[in-house]
Amino acid sequence: MMQDLITIENCDICGSKDLRVFDAPGHIMYCLRCGFKFTSPRKVLDKEIADNDVQYRQEHSKTFDRQRSLASYERRMAVFCRYAPCGRVLDVGAGFGSFLHLCKASGAYECHGTEVAAFCVDFAKQEFGLDLKAGILEEACYPSSYFDAVTMWHVLEHVPSPAAMLREIARILKPGGCLFIAVPNDSVMARPGFWKNSVKLGVNRLLGRDALKLKKMYPVYAEEGNYHLSHFTPASMKRLLACNGYEALEIGPDDAYNRVSAGAAKAERSFGFALKVHGLTGIVSFDALLAVARKV
Ligand SMILES: [Zn+2]
Repeated sequence: MMQDLITIENCDICGSKDLRVFDAPGHIMYCLRCGFKFTSPRKVLDKEIADNDVQYRQEHSKTFDRQRSLASYERRMAVFCRYAPCGRVLDVGAGFGSFLHLCKASGAYECHGTEVAAFCVDFAKQEFGLDLKAGILEEACYPSSYFDAVTMWHVLEHVPSPAAMLREIARILKPGGCLFIAVPNDSVMARPGFWKNSVKLGVNRLLGRDALKLKKMYPVYAEEGNYHLSHFTPASMKRLLACNGYEALEIGPDDAYNRVSAGAAKAERSFGFALKVHGLTGIVSFDALLAVARKV
């Protein structure tokens, strides 16, 4: 059954009400003032969605490969250690607990985590011996200035208000503490389809007709469900951080490809290339980005 949808009235980053439709079938809007793209109208997060999420994760757990799961966090761990070599760490939306397990195994961290899917809380306990708090971050009521570092691996794009989430994290981070955020990268540089569409649009305009068919860039909303509510680029991520009490230290490609998939070798090459491009130009050309920020 299709649920009631809610319409977002204000840009979550800059607060502007000047919003336009970017992709109608995908329910993608953008802010005219700052360019932030988000899903609206959207479903209200409720039990049914949470149940779908649990089902999805239960399915995913059948193919869970401990070695590959840990390998997919190694590059993130290297970035993490550079800025947060030790201390008290919180992983928001810890999933199966792979990242916290790496932290725990290093012996340098006191590990905390939250997770909305009860199934994952049980899984992390059984697989890694981790005690995650069930529920959303705000329900955990951590003390102020408590953590040295907070991580969110592909969580923020699912959160109704990224700005509210970042403010809560700023409250519980110690002054100078670091925040690590990985999300899909929606920028033109990371999505070749955007380039192809722009070229095709230009050709269509020259010919005065729709000779070339445009590539669909976003799934139809009903197909996508309620999974991604925000569609970040390095620029909008930087703005979001600056508006909520953080200084962005680094925004680079995130090692987010699926190591179990048939395309893993190709994705590894593409990630290696993205690292070189980032090193030379600062541009994030991979389809996921990793932002490191410091609470100011
Ligand atoms: Zn805006």
